[in-house]
Amino acid sequence: MKKIGVLTSGGDSPGMNAAIRAVVRKAIFHEMEVYGIKNGFQGLMEGNIENMDLGSVGDIIQRGGTILFSARSEEFKTEAGQQRAIEQLKKFGIEGLIVIGGDGSFRGAQKLTDKGFPCIGVPGTIDNDISGTDFTIGFDTSLNTIIQAVDKIRDTATSHERTYIIEVMGRDAGDLALWAGLAGGAESILIPEKKEDFSGILDRLKRGHDRGKKHSIILLAEGVGSGFDYGDRIEKETKLETRVTVLGYIQRGGSPSATDRVLASRLGARAVELLMNEQGGRMVGIQQNILVDHAFDEVFTKDHSINEEMYQLSKELSI
Ligand code: ATP
Repeated sequence: MKKIGVLTSGGDSPGMNAAIRAVVRKAIFHEMEVYGIKNGFQGLMEGNIENMDLGSVGDIIQRGGTILFSARSEEFKTEAGQQRAIEQLKKFGIEGLIVIGGDGSFRGAQKLTDKGFPCIGVPGTIDNDISGTDFTIGFDTSLNTIIQAVDKIRDTATSHERTYIIEVMGRDAGDLALWAGLAGGAESILIPEKKEDFSGILDRLKRGHDRGKKHSIILLAEGVGSGFDYGDRIEKETKLETRVTVLGYIQRGGSPSATDRVLASRLGARAVELLMNEQGGRMVGIQQNILVDHAFDEVFTKDHSINEEMYQLSKELSI
């Protein structure tokens, strides 16, 4: 394979630029040509495609977001949209494509692969919700952003003896809330993978209050429900003053952590290697610090699961 393309799709995540850089430099190192496709699958259909050289990825390893921009495209989900994309790939002579994004993006990549056009997926999402990899690019940076916020909220929580609910992203996954809860010393962690009885949450809050705790911090994953609804219910039931902070999009921005830059570099480079070996329809990942790759079908059929030992530990440490 001599010419490959790269695009970013779905929600952006810190570290995507480091992955693009790795793809471009690794491919050029192996004397391949690389084309950057702007605006995800939408840009692919529109032929928004440019040749990338070594310099085009200079000074981006430390930058958040994605220099290729990202988009969601309904049209690409249609047969006609996918045909348009393939025509553009043929026009530019691109033989293989690297898709950096979440599992929705990999479904698109699978469709192109099924049509005879090999694609490799690189997991880039802050949610850490993709099976077949222990970590996704952006998760570590987002987690650190959340922890900075939790630490600040803890200061004010102690000063005012309040209960604080901090709602974090993650879609249907609870990894950000679980890791941030454990790292931030939260009293309760509410995640979609574990249905906790509301009375259990109230009991824990009351118990803490009765033994003189100055504050309570609850980490709530957005997949569980609205932080404001929980706040209203908790205040009503416990009579403890409760405040809600929805962290929102600050969790998606910022300079990627060292861990995310290293992960992105390794995964991006491995994706190029797979295309060099004429492989397609696979996602690269990391498991127990070893680079792995799995067929997209395997990634789609297995549910992402949370770390049970960590969840149990979070309960034991917050008594
Ligand atoms: P994140 O969840 O982090 O936002 P994602 O990759 O899961 O990332 P999606 O919005 O689900 O984000 O998907 C990105 C794009 O991938 C879609 O806008 C669409 O163009 C394409 N895509 C998603 N599902 C399919 C599908 N079943 N067939 C073809 N293309 C798809």
